[in-house]
Amino acid sequence: MAIYELVKPEIRSIAPYVPGKSVAEIAEKYNLEPDSIIKLGSNENPLGPSPAAVRALQEAAGNVNIYPSADARELVDAISAYVGMPQANIVASGPGMDGLLDGLMRMLISADSEVVITTPTFSYYEISATACGAQPVFVKRNEKFDVDIDRVIAAVNENTKVVFICSPNNPTGNITAEKELRRLLDSVECLVFVDEAYVEFADSDIVSLVGEYDNLVVGRTFSKAFGLAGLRLGYGIMPAWLKVEYMKAATPFNVSAPAVAAGIAALSDKKHREASQQMVIDGRDYLKVNMPFNVYESQANFMLVDVAPHGAKDVCDHLLRRGVIVRDCTSFRDAGDSFIRVTVGTREQNERVVEGFSTYL
Ligand SMILES: *Cc1c(COP(=O)(O)O)cnc(C)c1O
Repeated sequence: MAIYELVKPEIRSIAPYVPGKSVAEIAEKYNLEPDSIIKLGSNENPLGPSPAAVRALQEAAGNVNIYPSADARELVDAISAYVGMPQANIVASGPGMDGLLDGLMRMLISADSEVVITTPTFSYYEISATACGAQPVFVKRNEKFDVDIDRVIAAVNENTKVVFICSPNNPTGNITAEKELRRLLDSVECLVFVDEAYVEFADSDIVSLVGEYDNLVVGRTFSKAFGLAGLRLGYGIMPAWLKVEYMKAATPFNVSAPAVAAGIAALSDKKHREASQQMVIDGRDYLKVNMPFNVYESQANFMLVDVAPHGAKDVCDHLLRRGVIVRDCTSFRDAGDSFIRVTVGTREQNERVVEGFSTYL
């Protein structure tokens, strides 16, 4: 047996996750000043973290010799107030929402399990489910990137454990209507995971439906609107029966004490959140009007740009050389090769983005 065969074949078959490019990487490759580079490739918050969260982190630092509460109870309390759902429906997750996905896959997937993924979308669903041994079944979104719920329902069978719906969808920015989600929830017996990573930038959310359906899980994160991507903090809103099972399998203490403190502080800082939301609303309008390419409507803090007949890679290279990092969507399954995802930045950053796209032409 070759030594690498110690690793399960389902792991070896995974294509590595493609993250957005870092400032250090681009500074070195294109010989640029790191300070002159703007990073709009990973949907981070350009306003930074809430100052209240930073203070909470500093205060928590002196006590990290002590374990946090095993279930992050104080943070779950604060999340409960923020989302308007009981604590019995909420779990906090240490390594971001990605950790929540992993926790769920670990408890649901066995040999023969299938999951349904609506493409193009966030790639970690496929990675997390495949790593646990599931067979992913892909249902492509239509030309407007809407989910065809009938095709999703048809793809579900008795082996299906989860359907993943990202809403607003990464990288396309559109939401799936509540009416359509209800039709799906009513028609299938498996779990439906609705990823609301970008919900703070959307017109609606579907959290209250968790109180009505015993098969709905909503995933959330502090990485985007709250500007805490580096802290790795997320949460899930799920039926009480599922939380009971989830807590049995979850890593104890998986939310660090500083993350608990910063999460609570971030939720209390309404001013920072509203400033972040307003910046995105204004920025989306600015980009829609000024981009020299077709831009899709978005309810998230990014916009999908179609540069056809040009290639996304070419246009991204042009922007990178000018110190503007955006996300080439070619690596997203079923996205084709003419799409670029641009995080909405500050006004000054958005102007540089527009300038970068314009000078390509
Ligand atoms: C960023 C992102 C996540 C990951 O969130 P973390 O909490 O940082 O792990 C999940 N889903 C989508 C769609 C995202 O874009």
